[in-house]
Amino acid sequence: MDLKKIEKGVALILDGIGENIARPGIKDTPERVSRMYAEIFSGLKTPDEDLLKPIEGETHDEMVLLKDIPFYSICEHHLLPFFGKAHIAYIPNGKIVGISELVKALELLAKRPQVQERLTSQLADIISQRLKPKGCMVIIDAEHLCMSMRGIKKPGSKTVTSAVRGIFRSKQSTRDEMLELIKRKD
Ligand code: ZN
Repeated sequence: MDLKKIEKGVALILDGIGENIARPGIKDTPERVSRMYAEIFSGLKTPDEDLLKPIEGETHDEMVLLKDIPFYSICEHHLLPFFGKAHIAYIPNGKIVGISELVKALELLAKRPQVQERLTSQLADIISQRLKPKGCMVIIDAEHLCMSMRGIKKPGSKTVTSAVRGIFRSKQSTRDEMLELIKRKD
């Protein structure tokens, strides 16, 4: 990542909106933003192949559900955050993965310029490719600041996307089981 380019770009934006870029409050902003971008876009440098390494010698056949995982991402259309919760379920077919690996995969995909639909399907696709499960399902529930603070200005409104693969697609009872588990509050 080229931090100097980011710095120049941010200085141009500040100049473009009519700010005085020498003003003490913002003179270091381009540098600060460049360091922040390195962090919030750090998922770009991790290849998808490095995500979700299965645990050797461990098997399990029942549904694994991870719900209410908080995440933050950046909308690639407006460069404003969207954030909320993700729910990930899969039914293994021999291979399983550490729970923290699922969270890490979500984090790395979220730390790229994204749209919510793609984040959802990329995660489902990576789980499908790596673990070859009987099925998997990803649901993401998020608020987009580009909708809350500008444009249609509907603070608090949520966008829900889902990606359904394998048995979750073919068998409604399996899908319903996951949705029930997500709704459960205990
Ligand atoms: Zn947007």
